[in-house]
Amino acid sequence: MLRIPLVDVKASYHRHAAAIDAAIRSVIESTAFIHGKELDEFEAAFAAFCETSHAVGVGSGTAAIHLALAALGVGPGDEVAVPAQSFIATAEPVSWLGARPRFIEIDPDTAGMDPDALKADIDGVKAVIPVHLYGHPADLARITEIAAMAGAPVIEDAAQAHGACILGSDGSTVVAGGYGAIGCFSFFPGKNLGSFGDAGAVTTNDPDLAAKIRMLRNHGRRTRYEHVTVGYAHRMDTLQAAVLSVKLATLAEGNRRRRELAAAYTAKLAGIGDLVLPVERAYARSVYHLYVVRTSRRDALLAHLTAAGIGAGVHYPIPLHLQPAYAALRHRVGDFPVAEAYARECLSLPIYPELTDEQQDRVVDAVRAYFETAS
Ligand SMILES: *Cc1c(COP(=O)(O)O)cnc(C)c1O
Repeated sequence: MLRIPLVDVKASYHRHAAAIDAAIRSVIESTAFIHGKELDEFEAAFAAFCETSHAVGVGSGTAAIHLALAALGVGPGDEVAVPAQSFIATAEPVSWLGARPRFIEIDPDTAGMDPDALKADIDGVKAVIPVHLYGHPADLARITEIAAMAGAPVIEDAAQAHGACILGSDGSTVVAGGYGAIGCFSFFPGKNLGSFGDAGAVTTNDPDLAAKIRMLRNHGRRTRYEHVTVGYAHRMDTLQAAVLSVKLATLAEGNRRRRELAAAYTAKLAGIGDLVLPVERAYARSVYHLYVVRTSRRDALLAHLTAAGIGAGVHYPIPLHLQPAYAALRHRVGDFPVAEAYARECLSLPIYPELTDEQQDRVVDAVRAYFETAS
């Protein structure tokens, strides 16, 4: 029996192997490993993809958030609003800067930051970081309005949402990463756009923020030998940029296939057991980085799928406020019940552009078989 992985990084490489190999070879021949021309090319292409005026290549998605916060002047004693359910990298850079994450409850349908919960607890926050979790945009129209009233800039954590869109009631479409003051992307290998190691990007329409982030990512350099501030070593290397440019050309097509697979899952899994399927809000075009279902029998279903050779996953089993790393913030079980329910019940099924219809049917059959025998 062939295993179906949760994400197939190898299949994605094989789709582009010849072009990627040539791009890597060309960087090696040039030996411009740091800030070669491929970095400028990728930054221009990614800014165009995100429809922002600037994209700055950085060392990782976490570095992108770190730089965004630093560029906005977040520092010791500040508080930054972060959703209670996300990958810990949304919160860590807040702590690196001596600031403190203020966790905010999530929306029960989309797992994004709940605008009403933000509104109730926004007093005194220096910045707000909504996350487009699983590829579904957070409710940025409401979140940016609430944040603006409090004078807090919005940093989008778009690490899982390359190419997702926010549709306005006026017919406008904004690509994720271009709605808030700054957008942060990760190109971790398994993301919708994945590099061959660590890489990330910051997007913005503000030329001053872009210039500041360019300076901060490279040791606070103004000229080769002059450092105007204590910066960071947060550069994207040229090899990653070269690989990413090749893969960027098929990102939109990959996202379309993900949406097709998500629609098929939603049609085929409807009415099975107590499964709650993901929804797409009217304002949102998700890029389904993950297809996340919920069930009270999550752990048993996960064990069943694993035994059937299906790589299901959990994103994420411990909400941020209950992570041991944040024990000093003294949160307790019950502080964010929606986030806690997600952590208990969420299960990610395989989804990636190379997943075939036949493979997807095997996943659906295995899920159905579990509920038929378990009930
Ligand atoms: C992947 C991810 C990050 C961090 O990205 P890295 O490139 O791994 O540093 C941040 N936030 C979210 C929501 C992510 O999924």
